[in-house]
Amino acid sequence: MARQHNFSAGPAALPQSVLEELQQAILEFGDAGAGIMELSHRGAAFSEVIEQAEQRLRSLLSIPKDYAVLFLQGGASMQFYMSALNLNGPGEAADYLVTGTWSQKAVKEAKRVSDAKAIWDGAECQFRSLPSADNFSVREEANYVHYTTNNTIYGTQWAALPDTGDTPLVADMSSDICCRPVDLTRHGVLYAGAQKNLGPSGVTVVILSPWALEQSQKSSQARPGGLPSMLDYALMADKQSMFNTPNTWGIYALERTLAWIESQGDLTSMEAANQAKAQSLYDELDRSEFWTPHADTNVRSLMNVTWRSPSAELDTQFIKQAGESGLHALKGHRSIGGIRASIYNACPAESVNALVEFMRDFEAKQG
Ligand code: PMP
Repeated sequence: MARQHNFSAGPAALPQSVLEELQQAILEFGDAGAGIMELSHRGAAFSEVIEQAEQRLRSLLSIPKDYAVLFLQGGASMQFYMSALNLNGPGEAADYLVTGTWSQKAVKEAKRVSDAKAIWDGAECQFRSLPSADNFSVREEANYVHYTTNNTIYGTQWAALPDTGDTPLVADMSSDICCRPVDLTRHGVLYAGAQKNLGPSGVTVVILSPWALEQSQKSSQARPGGLPSMLDYALMADKQSMFNTPNTWGIYALERTLAWIESQGDLTSMEAANQAKAQSLYDELDRSEFWTPHADTNVRSLMNVTWRSPSAELDTQFIKQAGESGLHALKGHRSIGGIRASIYNACPAESVNALVEFMRDFEAKQG
């Protein structure tokens, strides 16, 4: 079966060359005499893999030396709770910018363990826009401000970091990590599930500043019996993600995906490629009255492009006919409907060009 154009929101398309390397490594990893999934996580071969993965991530994202890099499990959804648990002592305050479904879930989990508050909520504007600094005020007692860098479902992305003064940022970067350079130094924590830009599901990257590690220790001391081991940032950092068996296969796939990003240049060149792809789709949406984009122009995402045709019925026809023409996974998220094209790092420009061509044909046939 031929591989087709894949616009899945995640798990998402991976580079063909990475898939071929993975295929080989499943059967035989280097000269280890066994496949990558069959090797001990404490053996020399896998130790090298996890070290390489960390080094590549550090170099691509310019992660400061004193930050810790972890490869955990449980997805971004576990980080909603884990970050709040580690960064807040009992009853301490944290502020949340609610810009979509995932940040709604983040604040909900944080409320279980802290005085978490949504200081801005975009539900009323169907999450089409993002706030500027004069739209919210950070509480003095807040330990951090949490935000979602890219809103996968609505197709919005912060163009610049939220301005929170001296209060550290905590970022859910699940759907745009490594799509462009980012200033990490304003962040206490960054986390991302790997399954969009970095590889398969089942690995979660967590990057922690020295402040975050200190908060984790304080939070542990403030709780009778300490933090549960599997939810303890400081312990996970101390054990270098090896407190228990990590997702060895997923970490290898992530390492290969990072190597592929490096082969394309750096994150500045990745950003340029992503901008060119997104621009051709947005140009098409702006060219014609037929299509209605969802996100406000100034916060359009490079990763997830969301729009509608003149009716829900036509949306359904569009998605069905696109699938029949080899353009897959264009259905908008069930919570908003419409059409969504996820065009992460590994989505080739040819896929985007094929989609634009299909949109033109579809419109012409309707018109
Ligand atoms: N945050 C964002 C921005 C997401 O896009 C997703 C998944 N689509 C999640 C969190 C949840 O991730 P996971 O399924 O890995 O828990």
